[in-house]
Amino acid sequence: MRLRFEHWSLLCRGRRKKIIALIIVLIFLINAMFYVAMTLFERVHKRHNWNGIPGKQYDNNSYLDKNGMRVIVGHYIGGSSGRKLPEDVINANLYSPVPMAGEGGRPVEIYQRELITAKEHFSLHYYNIVVSDKISINRSLPDVRSKSCKDVKYDIDNLPTATVIIVFHNEAWSTLMRTVMSVIRRSRDSLVKQIILVDDASERAYLGKELEDAIIDFKQVHLLRNPKRTGLVGARLLGAKAASGDVLVFLDAHCEVTEGWLEPLLERAGSDDVFVCPHIDLISEDTFAYTKSVDAHWGAFSWRLHFRWLAPSKEVMDAKLKDPAKPYPTPTMAGGLFAVRKSLFWRLGGYDEGMVIWGSENLELSWRAWQCGARVEITSCSRVGHIFRKHSPYSYPGGVQRVLNNNLARVVSVWMDEYADFFYKFNPHVAAVRDDRRVAARVELRKNLGCKSFKWYLDNIWPQHFFPSEDRWFGRIKNDLGACLAPNASVPGVGGAASAQPCHPDDQLEGLVVFTPKGSIMVDVGLCLEKGNGRVVWRFCNENHRQYWEQKGPRIKTLTGLCLTLVTNKHPDPSGIGAPLTTVRCSDDPAQIWHFERVPWR
Ligand code: UDP
Ligand code: MN
Repeated sequence: MRLRFEHWSLLCRGRRKKIIALIIVLIFLINAMFYVAMTLFERVHKRHNWNGIPGKQYDNNSYLDKNGMRVIVGHYIGGSSGRKLPEDVINANLYSPVPMAGEGGRPVEIYQRELITAKEHFSLHYYNIVVSDKISINRSLPDVRSKSCKDVKYDIDNLPTATVIIVFHNEAWSTLMRTVMSVIRRSRDSLVKQIILVDDASERAYLGKELEDAIIDFKQVHLLRNPKRTGLVGARLLGAKAASGDVLVFLDAHCEVTEGWLEPLLERAGSDDVFVCPHIDLISEDTFAYTKSVDAHWGAFSWRLHFRWLAPSKEVMDAKLKDPAKPYPTPTMAGGLFAVRKSLFWRLGGYDEGMVIWGSENLELSWRAWQCGARVEITSCSRVGHIFRKHSPYSYPGGVQRVLNNNLARVVSVWMDEYADFFYKFNPHVAAVRDDRRVAARVELRKNLGCKSFKWYLDNIWPQHFFPSEDRWFGRIKNDLGACLAPNASVPGVGGAASAQPCHPDDQLEGLVVFTPKGSIMVDVGLCLEKGNGRVVWRFCNENHRQYWEQKGPRIKTLTGLCLTLVTNKHPDPSGIGAPLTTVRCSDDPAQIWHFERVPWR
């Protein structure tokens, strides 16, 4: 009591003002600290969640490379298409835009309480439908074109007209409509003759009358219904047959086009000898953020014919540096996004109708284009965002593997010549469904068009390819201690520090390497053995002198005469499995002795 009184009287005397001021300052400081702590917490939390729904990991089928490019390693695994969800959930359209959500292509974060729903509904489309439903179908996007692209002046009056064809099967309402609205809002009216939506026998209620009502006011938008599910090839053909524009422009149903996307496609496709693709940017399947992808990329494929993005050749990169607005050639297209003059599309045989549902049609079209006198190009001035998914959400009637293998067998048998033998030899499950009689009409088409060989395609369009050939050594390189030279199997196609691996039998591609006459030791998807600083590494082939090796008897030497060696000291495994590789002065050490076991490639 006394103390309190004294304290109070203290305040009452002249120091009172000072103490009150001190308390105010203290309160302010505590508040500021609290704010800083909260902001930091949120940032860390956001970064932690950047790749989306907590607990969702990227698997070995896809990863983001250092440039932010989603690299798809393997084939799709067929999805469950939300089969476990109740019918009313599957058929509901829950589009309900939140002001400003996702505007400018920014990521959308969802509330903690929505996470469970987002996770549960993810398998419906293999993208975050809760986020998609929050973003306006008219959202704004950044203009990510380079300055040189923005500066190009097009002779608008003389550009051919477009029919935009968007095929879909069970797509989400908001994602599909955002694709359509982005085309309507960001294309010059005079250039778009039609927008044709082809419904590939979807089963969702909201894609019925609700979709028809949504497009009724747009006279240029037409909706065709495929009476029977055919897959994307049949659906695109249906759209192409109804097209009245000069140029067919194909898009997937989960794309968003950006400012100025159409003119570069029409200008190039007008020339009648080229399939031209836009530059594909990334729309995150979790946050729907629009992200610019690497400036230049090539579409290509692995030994097993899985589509892969690769860095373009030095020649292409140099040409791009000189003129960034100029379209550049690519060995293959990614698939769903391209423009082609209608006359060329039909002259070259449309699509192979025998290819059903999904898969390999991008290789078929690209090889046919190149081998039969046309070209495949990418223009960086046309920027279109696409949601890359690592799973396919829809059903594959007859089974995923059967569908994918059938499609693969068709394209391999028709277009690959002696490389078909290579493919079938190492892919017996595809060889098992091979039936060359069923592709007779496509073989006939190839003959009538007077198309060139697959070898011509590899040698001329993709000379940097990593496939074996007559003049390349192919087989297993085995160290005297017992381990083999191969990339680390746990991270396919990424490269990194090289170490000796267990040897594989003759029929497993994972253990086989190509040794070129120029001296590259390369493996699938274009990784080359490179003399690093100290350790030897697997790195994307780049024609650097560090990637050239000479075989001298049982030794593999760098151009400076050092020997490829297993670092076995202190290594637990006597055969050297897992031991790092390095280059040191040559000696009699068995860790420097290699056996070249040739394996016939076809
Ligand atoms: N699609 C279709 N019918 C099918 C499978 C796919 O119409 O049976 C459509 C799908 O809705 C999409 C396009 O074809 O608009 C390409 O498919 P997807 O996006 O799954 O392939 P990706 O882009 O992942 O290669
Ligand atoms: Mn797609």
